[in-house]
Amino acid sequence: MLRCPECRSQRTTFKAMQLHIKASGHKLCGCGGYHYPHRPGSPFCDSNPMAPALRASREGASDEEVYEIVIGLAWSVAGKPLKAWPTF
Ligand SMILES: [Zn+2]
Ligand SMILES: [Zn+2]
Repeated sequence: MLRCPECRSQRTTFKAMQLHIKASGHKLCGCGGYHYPHRPGSPFCDSNPMAPALRASREGASDEEVYEIVIGLAWSVAGKPLKAWPTF
């Protein structure tokens, strides 16, 4: 069973999913953040500004290391002030 990452509806075949994506205009992202197509901006998606921190966290970095990366990203992501700490 395949699930559309955008609207969570399910399709039984890859072909049906492709048709749904096309018909609905739902966006999928195929970056390396996940091993499968996903919604752009998902926590581990590379289009998520916090992706490097989340990735470090997933790969076993300590809380301090992740915190350092988040601080760095918060400064470097222009025009996107940090509203809330991302949840790991
Ligand atoms: Zn959908
Ligand atoms: Zn992605």
